Amino acid sequence: MNLDHLYATQLGDLGAYTQPLEVANPELIEVNHTLREALQLPASWFTQSTITSMLFDNTSSFTKHSFAQKYGGHQFGGWNPDLGDGRGLLLGETVDKNGQRWDLHLKGAGPTPYSRFADGRAVLRSTLREYLASEALHHLGIPTSRALCLITSDELVYREKQERAAMMIRVSQSHIRFGHFEYFYHSGQTDKLERLFNYSLEHHFLSCAKQQNPHFAMLERIVQDTATMIAKWQAFGFNHGVMNTDNMSMHGITFDFGPYAFMDDFDPTFVCNHSDHHGRYAFEQQPGIGLWNLNALAHAFTPYLSIEQIKEALGKYEEQLLSEFSYLLRHRLGLYAASPSTADLINRWLDLISQDKRDYHISFRLLCEVNEHQANPQLVNHFIQREAAQRWLNQYQQALLEQNVPVEDRQNKMRGVNPQYVLRNYQAQLAIDAAEEGDFSRFKMFLQVLKQPFASKPEYADFAKAPPDWGKHMEISCSS
Ligand code: AMP
Ligand code: MG
Repeated sequence: MNLDHLYATQLGDLGAYTQPLEVANPELIEVNHTLREALQLPASWFTQSTITSMLFDNTSSFTKHSFAQKYGGHQFGGWNPDLGDGRGLLLGETVDKNGQRWDLHLKGAGPTPYSRFADGRAVLRSTLREYLASEALHHLGIPTSRALCLITSDELVYREKQERAAMMIRVSQSHIRFGHFEYFYHSGQTDKLERLFNYSLEHHFLSCAKQQNPHFAMLERIVQDTATMIAKWQAFGFNHGVMNTDNMSMHGITFDFGPYAFMDDFDPTFVCNHSDHHGRYAFEQQPGIGLWNLNALAHAFTPYLSIEQIKEALGKYEEQLLSEFSYLLRHRLGLYAASPSTADLINRWLDLISQDKRDYHISFRLLCEVNEHQANPQLVNHFIQREAAQRWLNQYQQALLEQNVPVEDRQNKMRGVNPQYVLRNYQAQLAIDAAEEGDFSRFKMFLQVLKQPFASKPEYADFAKAPPDWGKHMEISCSS
């Protein structure tokens, strides 16, 4: 079989044809065969000898049109035109069983014309983190790029210390970022901007292309999808950490994993990124930053849309985010009808866990055990403010009684939206430490756990525990 190379062949002057640079002793460590099958990619490609020869032989399906995509981005609020894939190559596109098109993209492929003075590599540590996070988010129902396979090497690269380089092939509907449109707009390359829009409409926003105003429909779609994604981050306690516009996908999926974290003890002001000194990308700032980023993207739509039209499209963001967030939280609490009193219960529940600094995920999972016909001391005892917890519980039980859904049905439904296992940074770190010594068993096991986050299994008990103090609220380095 052959891959398509639509982006590289139709938009060849929007980036640079570049071959992956060989690494010392490449080793295929992990393949996501479920994803591979869904993408209808041959199993024979994903063996140690075939994949390494395909990646480093410049005539294979992977490399004959491998392509570095140029983009720019607003980084921490400032425009930077000098970005672009300095370490990733688009290998090609494939179509799945449902006719949906997907990019295969090699991260850590070696220098490209956009690498500036860097090595074009990704370190093992960050590659493992991206692999775990994208699979964890996907299985929680949060839109994200996916991980297809992981290749390690004995190639040494320098970050804060010497580390081993690795590569992964990731999969996403496309790798077109907000920063792509922004770059061609801000550099005045209107012809390229036009072709990027036409390409995106034709291949990725076909239903919008058929509307009376395709650009308006496309912006509106991106606004809605971004709002939905961020509502899910907030509902599941996910802090992305580097919401620069070059890390925002036009598909509204979680993209470019860096120093991300799932919440431990609930602190809405938490900042997972060690380099984010002003807390721009703090957990509670994410909804506002999402709109800021959409506004930055919208500048690139100004050749096609009036300011009124742009305001109208952006105006849909807040409502979409709030309604999705409230839908998710209601389901996490097992309350199925929207009402002011349900909204009040949700807000007071979040206040309770943040004031008492309780573990975000364990608190929600504990809620699944509440029985509206009995006292629930385990929930009350979970809190420091027991009286406040009891008052909240009384009102919650009353709401459950009025709703009149059989207890077991509700509890089972709640167990399907309140994960038992989440990607704790300290667990990721333990898996990384072992992998850096050559033992990938912990990484592989953690990956299995994260692929079934809702089903409680005794053999995975360790992964459901709250982190020890040393493992809480780890700030992660941005270097990767
Ligand atoms: P990222 O941290 O992957 O989002 O990268 C931000 C920008 O810096 C992108 O344009 C990357 O291509 C580039 N970049 C990051 N690390 C490297 C590296 N080791 N070599 C080349 N370019 C890099
Ligand atoms: Mg990035």
